[in-house]
Amino acid sequence: MKNFQLLSEIRSEIDAGKLTVSTLTQHYLNNINDKNGRLNAFLSVYGDEALQHARVIDDKIQKNSAGKLAGLIVGIKDVFAYANHRLQCASNILENFESQFTATCVQRLIDEDAIIIGHQNCDEFAMGSSNENSAFGSCKNPIDETRVPGGSSGGSAAAVAADMCLVSIGSDTGGSVRQPAAFCGVIGLKPTYSRISRFGLAAYASSFDTVGIFSKSIEDAALILEVMAGADEWDSTVSQKSVPKFSSFHSNKKYSVAYLHETLEHYGLNEEIKKKTLQTISNLKEIGHRVEGVRMSFLEYVLPTYYVLTAAEASSNLSRYDGVRYGKRADGSELSEMYTNSRSEGFGEEVRRRIMTGTFVLSASYYDAYYTKAQKVRKLIQEETNTLLDQYDFIISPTTPTTAFKIGELNDDPIQMYLEDLFTVQANVAGIPAISIPMGTDNTGLPIGVQLMSKSFNELELLDISNQIITFKDQNR
Ligand code: GLN
Repeated sequence: MKNFQLLSEIRSEIDAGKLTVSTLTQHYLNNINDKNGRLNAFLSVYGDEALQHARVIDDKIQKNSAGKLAGLIVGIKDVFAYANHRLQCASNILENFESQFTATCVQRLIDEDAIIIGHQNCDEFAMGSSNENSAFGSCKNPIDETRVPGGSSGGSAAAVAADMCLVSIGSDTGGSVRQPAAFCGVIGLKPTYSRISRFGLAAYASSFDTVGIFSKSIEDAALILEVMAGADEWDSTVSQKSVPKFSSFHSNKKYSVAYLHETLEHYGLNEEIKKKTLQTISNLKEIGHRVEGVRMSFLEYVLPTYYVLTAAEASSNLSRYDGVRYGKRADGSELSEMYTNSRSEGFGEEVRRRIMTGTFVLSASYYDAYYTKAQKVRKLIQEETNTLLDQYDFIISPTTPTTAFKIGELNDDPIQMYLEDLFTVQANVAGIPAISIPMGTDNTGLPIGVQLMSKSFNELELLDISNQIITFKDQNR
């Protein structure tokens, strides 16, 4: 069976009687069967159940009563609750845990007849940039299996790139959708903070966490965003704004775009990624958009601000896993020893590092020096970003400083690993939408991504310009 690129392509084959949802589901299951042993992208596969749902949906299609996502086969990152299915956040501490409810974003897909094919590998509690912090072992990049797929939603990106599902749902707290999308050569969309309900998404850093989408087409990203977004009585922080018809994003509108000199001149930026970003800038000009270089004074503070605040929020969010209320319980001769043993055995190294950093920056003696200061800097970064986005419709930059690195290459160097998030965290610190679009490969065949950011709740135009860039690239190949 062919490697489908978008849902409408699948639907027209179904409508022409050439394909059924059952055979399509079987196709993806066969691919998972063939490839997952090597790639380790899926932690659980719901094969029988998916086939059963497929038969029901085929029946609905016959009767003309199918939802708008009929024919869509989706994988979800192991941080989304799906009732009566295991949920482990790729951590030992949640061993054998089963969700009792379904995340709102997942439920909305199911309500439109999408099929959930399985839970995907990721970094433990979504903390990481390589998928190597998973209790289930790293996932491999399908383009080069000696390399990481990126993280934390590595399994979700790898699964789409390897045609094990058409789209995946991941979470993006500092780049976990866009960075793996860039490493695996697919599209990764992080909407505005609060655009999609976080109900049923295991919390990492609640004021940053965003549900995101991996796809091979802008059309699918738009359609899925449209289905998942919007008010939800289960999440008091979700935006009450009405949801535009994202799927009608096409326009010939000419926009203004800023690029940041600091990103393109950064010493850590790979030369070929720089070239592709410059190429994209010149393509944008050729299409008729106005593109200008600008400077941002706070850029060097974005990463430290992000890591102070997310560690603080993580240490608080993860305090519930104590072996009593939640989590695997270890032995101990007294209560405090039992807590210590449970958390030491249950959490991996990176999660423990973040909990300790977070506890430190929140401690009475250091609170003002780190946490309060980082909150103030966050505000300044937000203001500077928003001022820039009052002058320009978009900011363009590379998605990542490097292409996919070798498995194990950065394991002993957490700072170098954190630098992978250099260009992606700004969108989360500011709460704005951002997307990574594939821009070809380097001379060894490794994918390169380019990132666009826009003002809050402007996903519609973000999708439009992304589509213009991809269409131009495909026409001038
Ligand atoms: N790599 C970043 C981190 O480790 C981003 C993670 C994410 O977006 N979930 O925090």
